[in-house]
Amino acid sequence: QAKAAELVSFGQKHVAKGLNRLVDDVIQSAEGSYVTLTSGKRLLDFTTGIGVTNLGHCHPKVSKAAAEQCMKVVHAQCSLAFHEPYLELVDALLPVVPKGLDTFFFWNSGAEAVEQSIKIARAVTGRQNIIAMQGAYHGRTYGTMALTRSKTIYSEGSAPLMPGVFVTPFPYWHQAGFPQNVDEKTLVDHCLHQLSLVFSQQTAPKDTAAIIIETVIGEGGYVPAPKSYLEGLRKVCDEHGIVLIFDEVQCGFGRTGKYFAQEWSGVQPDVMVFAKGIANGFPLSGVVGKKHLMDKMKPGSMGGTYAGNAVSCAAAVACSKVMKEENILSNVEQRSAELFSALHKMQRDPSLRISDVRGAGLMVAVEFGTGSHAPGAEKALKGVAAKISKRCADKGLLILSTSVFEVIRFIPALNISQKELAEGIKIFEEVVREVVA
Ligand code: PMP
Repeated sequence: QAKAAELVSFGQKHVAKGLNRLVDDVIQSAEGSYVTLTSGKRLLDFTTGIGVTNLGHCHPKVSKAAAEQCMKVVHAQCSLAFHEPYLELVDALLPVVPKGLDTFFFWNSGAEAVEQSIKIARAVTGRQNIIAMQGAYHGRTYGTMALTRSKTIYSEGSAPLMPGVFVTPFPYWHQAGFPQNVDEKTLVDHCLHQLSLVFSQQTAPKDTAAIIIETVIGEGGYVPAPKSYLEGLRKVCDEHGIVLIFDEVQCGFGRTGKYFAQEWSGVQPDVMVFAKGIANGFPLSGVVGKKHLMDKMKPGSMGGTYAGNAVSCAAAVACSKVMKEENILSNVEQRSAELFSALHKMQRDPSLRISDVRGAGLMVAVEFGTGSHAPGAEKALKGVAAKISKRCADKGLLILSTSVFEVIRFIPALNISQKELAEGIKIFEEVVREVVA
């Protein structure tokens, strides 16, 4: 305890205040679905470091592959030559990425890969403008801050940002200004109409290089994009030669029960961005696209010192193997059914004020609300998600809120056991009863 307090006070003094923390403690070690703090406390982790450690912390096969790679070559600069783990990873991902996408480039972070996708779209089309979704999160670099529209805090005081970004509503009732019980067709028709207005009022299709969308919006509230909306976007992009980019940084690689969330809709992008779960905690992201688009970039225009790091790629290859060997997607399906069933049961208790349970696989959200769109109706619930998250941490469960609305997200490890999941749900329910009821 004393050591933890000392370390925290050192950190508070010397680490930039711009970094937020849920728990004022120090993570000492982590294994599977548990994190151990220096204070001795052990927490069940339903955050997976924001959708990263999908196979649990320090999965032995992934850590072993990384350790072995460390003894062979750590830094094989990708602009000097290919390296083996890079090519092995392409080979492992080719069968699971959307059909027709066959040309890869690996980066370090999600934001870098998103920026890369924008560079490609602009280079291919010779156009400048990008359409992003209201509520989107694509990163905190200068380019991605302009695309990120989930919370102003991410770019407050940082303007001017990358120019040429236009915003259209994501089909989430809050964003589109509908009551919660709006039917999907009305919502999607409205959002496609708004997009058509963006084209006639803000950026002409012939000036628009790309539309970028998260197939399940993450930091904007964990809302899957309806199939009909993605189909609408695909149609518009085909009509006007606009590049359709799917950002699967948070929802990709098994998180929703499919390798990539776009599989739920069957709509294929021209370029897809991925990161996070792909390497279970080693920094790695990537862009995969149609060959004729990707190859428009001139040699030398893509690259980065650490891009596609050999240790991260080796870890990612091991992740791909574990996904199959340990039948991870089948565990996601089983645990997802248990999670939805427990949350729906809670939703049936009106005192808990759960207005929505949504998501896919193990990317699931609970929204608190009165279900009413009347002004002020939600006021009484303001701040409950943050309170629930804090209180859960006190009681041994790491769980995060998301968006500017009252939403709690469930992103446990994809190989979480039935017992661990039940243990987390129990803590969550106790806390909701305490905070909301
Ligand atoms: N896109 C999405 C959908 C994300 O969720 C995130 C991270 N939360 C990013 C991009 C940015 O990734 P990174 O933090 O690795 O830059």
